[in-house]
Amino acid sequence: MRYIVLICISLLLVNCGNAEKKKPSSEKEDSKPKEIVKDTDDGIATIVINTNDLMKFNTSKVTVKAGQKVKLTLHHLGKLDKKVMGHNVVILKKNVDIVAFAAKATASRDNDYIPKGTTDVIAHTKMIGGQESTTIEFDAPEVGTYDFICSFPGHAFAMKGKFIVE
Ligand code: ZN
Repeated sequence: MRYIVLICISLLLVNCGNAEKKKPSSEKEDSKPKEIVKDTDDGIATIVINTNDLMKFNTSKVTVKAGQKVKLTLHHLGKLDKKVMGHNVVILKKNVDIVAFAAKATASRDNDYIPKGTTDVIAHTKMIGGQESTTIEFDAPEVGTYDFICSFPGHAFAMKGKFIVE
C-alpha cells in the first residue's frame, strides 16, 4: 500500500515538473524564428539543412563551437532524381577556392562529385535526390570561417554558405 502511495506522489511530481518546464520553452519556439543549429544537452551541435528542387539551401550561415561534435542532417524536400538535382553538403577547409574545387568536383561524377583523394574537405554528406535525407557526424574544426557548398555540377554558385566555428 505504501509503495502505491509513493508511486502516485512521484508521478504527480514528475507531471508537475514537466508542465512547468514545457510552457516557457514552447512559447519561446513560437515567437522565435526557427534556428538551424541546436545545442542539445549532450553538447552536440545538431544542424538540419533543408533544400529542394530550386537549388537553394534554407540557410547561408551555420555557427558551432570549436571542438564540438556536429551532427548535420540534409533533407532534400524536392521531387527530382539525384542525377538531375542532386544535393550534398561539402564543408571546405580554409582558403580552398570554391570555383576551383567545384570544377574538380564536376569531373568526379563516378565518386558522387567529390574529387577522389581530395585534401580540401573537412566533411561531406553523400549526394541525395528528392525525398531523401542524409546525416553525418564530425568534430568541429578550429575556430574560423569555412565555406560549405553543394558540389553537384553548377550548384556551388547558388548553393553555398558559411560554416562558422567560434
Ligand atoms: Zn545541389
